[in-house]
Amino acid sequence: MRFPLPSFSIRTRLIAAYIGILVLSFAAFALVAGGQISSAARQDYEQRLVNEMRLIAQGVSPYIAAGPGAAFSDELRQLIASYEMQVGGRLRLMPVSGIERRMMLMLQNLPEVETALRGSAAVVQRLNDEGRSALFTAAVVGSERRADVVAQLSVPLDNLQALVLERWAALGLVFALVTAAALAAALAVSRSIVRPLETLRQSALRLSQGDLAHRVTYAADDEIGQVARAFNEMAHRVESMLNEQRAFASNTSHELRTPLTAIRLRTEALRSDPTLDAATMRRYIAEVDDEVARLGALIEDLGLLSRFDAGRAELGDTEIDLARFLNNLYQQMQQLARARGLRLEWSAPADSPIVSASLSHLTVVFRNLLDNAIKYTPEGGTVTLTLSAHTAGAQIVIRDTGRGIEPEHAPHVFERFYRADRARSREIPGTGLGLALVKSIVEAYGGSITLHSEGAGKGTTATVIWPRRPAG
Ligand code: ATP
Ligand code: MG
Repeated sequence: MRFPLPSFSIRTRLIAAYIGILVLSFAAFALVAGGQISSAARQDYEQRLVNEMRLIAQGVSPYIAAGPGAAFSDELRQLIASYEMQVGGRLRLMPVSGIERRMMLMLQNLPEVETALRGSAAVVQRLNDEGRSALFTAAVVGSERRADVVAQLSVPLDNLQALVLERWAALGLVFALVTAAALAAALAVSRSIVRPLETLRQSALRLSQGDLAHRVTYAADDEIGQVARAFNEMAHRVESMLNEQRAFASNTSHELRTPLTAIRLRTEALRSDPTLDAATMRRYIAEVDDEVARLGALIEDLGLLSRFDAGRAELGDTEIDLARFLNNLYQQMQQLARARGLRLEWSAPADSPIVSASLSHLTVVFRNLLDNAIKYTPEGGTVTLTLSAHTAGAQIVIRDTGRGIEPEHAPHVFERFYRADRARSREIPGTGLGLALVKSIVEAYGGSITLHSEGAGKGTTATVIWPRRPAG
């Protein structure tokens, strides 16, 4: 499998994603809410100015009592200076009594003062005496009905801008804190992902170095846990496949060695034992012949099995009339059955199923099954061979009244070299490859085979479903 991703680590990708999302959302937030934050800060600031103006007007009021025309006392000057320091602006006290003064005021165009004289408060932005943008507000000193003096406050706009900046700085700080928290979370999450992956990698490495018994331990039932379980499953399969192969190789060499030893013992005797009489010599030669035939058959079976294992066996496509084919086989096996004192029965439907297969594969399958039925049925028993039509193609049942299969052996009879009850099987020739081969062939064609027995001494039934033509 290939993943066409750039090779950044999971940790880098996670952190980049987290930070990307945060930066984007902060930018979107600034875009949508930025204006509102600024105007809210301005409103707050103006409200504060108005409040302070009112307090200042109350504060200076006692010092004006002397009358509008009177000169400012030193105390009043000090007070004004201290207010200016406090607010960071300029405070002016304007006499407003008398018609001319009012006219002058109107000419000066000071809307905040006019608003104050009307009894309310306004904040106005314009240039101050120094030519810089500033905010102006005003309040009447003393009672509004007898307004003699108006206090006017002006603060440079910079103060407000500093406040807005302060708010943004606070937001920025929150953002930085959230980013730090997100980074920590991303690191923790990536570590929780990367660490088990590292464990998996180590396990795969150990497996590849031949430690097949090694398994991953990861208890959580999350996605990584599922991968870990799949990994263990795979390790288990690989281990058992390798064990099977080892067993197969050792069984094969054992099965080949036995007849070879028998042959060598006899040929040695024939070559170097001068006391052998003619009859014994003939028997030895016949036995050598038998062993050679057995070896040949075994090698034939092994070759066929390995071709089916590797998927290299060619499934034939000869149109075969199953009734005719099985009838021929029945005739051939009849002799063997009779020699063993068995009855071999055969029945087929009038309308014989035709299948597309290789004649030699069909022969291997049904000769093996009939051979087993005859081999494992004691004298006086019956073997029946029944052919019938089936939705998939044909069904062939081979039933015997023989020794049956004990339940503990039943699951293993299709394994290579497996022979149930080895001690008793010794008198009956065979290597235990027959059913393994039968199963390989039947399944390669897309058919199925089952072997059923009620238990020891209760006979055995082999059922084959053979498809009309090879699957796939
Ligand atoms: P081979 O077929 O290689 O000559 P085999 O007959 O022993 O040897 P299989 O055909 O693979 O091997 O059968 C495996 C085992 O299954 C047999 O050894 C036998 O114990 C059991 N078995 C198979 N068919 C029958 C049957 N019809 N009745 C009782 N046992 C059977
Ligand atoms: Mg057999």
